[in-house]
Amino acid sequence: MTLAPDTLGPTVCIGEILVEIVATTPGNGFTEALPLLGPYPSGAPAIFIDQCGRMGGAAAMIGAVGNDDFGLVNTRRLERDGVDISAIHVDDTLPTGSAFVRYREDGSRDFVFNMWTSAASQMRWNAATEALIARAGHLHVMGTLLMRPEIWAIIERAAGIIKARGGTISLDPNLRKELKADAEMDARFAKMVGLSDLLLPSGEELEVAAGVSGKEAALERLFSLGVKEVALKEGTKGATVYAPGAEPVHAPAFKVDELDPTGAGDCFGGAYVACRRLGMTVPQALTYANAAGARNVTVRGPMEGAGTRAELDAFIVSKTGGR
Ligand code: ATP
Ligand code: MG
Repeated sequence: MTLAPDTLGPTVCIGEILVEIVATTPGNGFTEALPLLGPYPSGAPAIFIDQCGRMGGAAAMIGAVGNDDFGLVNTRRLERDGVDISAIHVDDTLPTGSAFVRYREDGSRDFVFNMWTSAASQMRWNAATEALIARAGHLHVMGTLLMRPEIWAIIERAAGIIKARGGTISLDPNLRKELKADAEMDARFAKMVGLSDLLLPSGEELEVAAGVSGKEAALERLFSLGVKEVALKEGTKGATVYAPGAEPVHAPAFKVDELDPTGAGDCFGGAYVACRRLGMTVPQALTYANAAGARNVTVRGPMEGAGTRAELDAFIVSKTGGR
């Protein structure tokens, strides 16, 4: 088995929780009054774990929100979707993180972020974290968080405990070349790759994660470091899973009208990890993961389109006629 079974304990994701408030008209930024929609629950780690819970996987989140309505928007959603929120700290001083987002005509985005200046910065190892990690079965790590020393400390400690009890680790590198230029980040990243059972890169992240150019060479290097499975996200081309000594398994993307691209990669990951931990084969997990990513982009809001297993089944049937 590539990943520890769901029965060992929940998949845990650590990181930022925030609300997203999105402009309903395309254009440049926020320098005048404009119509906005939200707050939507958001944050890449929160989207991942919400989809994992909706898929039916055991799921839990470590993070921090403020003692305010934006915090409730998130904790209520996660709880509704079966995510254990016992290790989400509610901070009495700082407000919940937020991101105002506006799409430009060319599809790029303008942001106003209040993230590490918000309650999200107050994540610490505490008694609730300790209790959750002691019964966790899998850790999912977002590469973007390795640059935050206080979060790296939590990740490193959690990874050691979870591995020692037979749990497994997945990593979404989410890493641009520029980030990896920093020597300390590089060392943290190398340590994480060495601990990971499953990698979920997209595009060039595969080669950046391996530190080697060329897809074949990158895969070979990752497998030599102990990675057992690589699920490469390929956007509208779908996704391909590689494992040492096995033929690659590719599944094309489902055809949809993309309304809001945010969250596709995180929904893909949450569904893939849940399915594998529930004992599904690579092709089965890949089909659900592609469906989760595709379904999420058809709905406005970062995690509004995350589907339950029944919703994803219905989505797949609607796209394939049940074949
Ligand atoms: P993100 O943009 O959220 O960071 P990512 O780059 O990590 O995402 P993507 O490859 O963009 O990952 O998306 C993950 C998966 O979601 C894809 O492999 C695909 O299955 C599905 N997906 C994403 N966008 C679309 C789309 N427009 N149509 C159909 N499927 C999509
Ligand atoms: Mg990504």
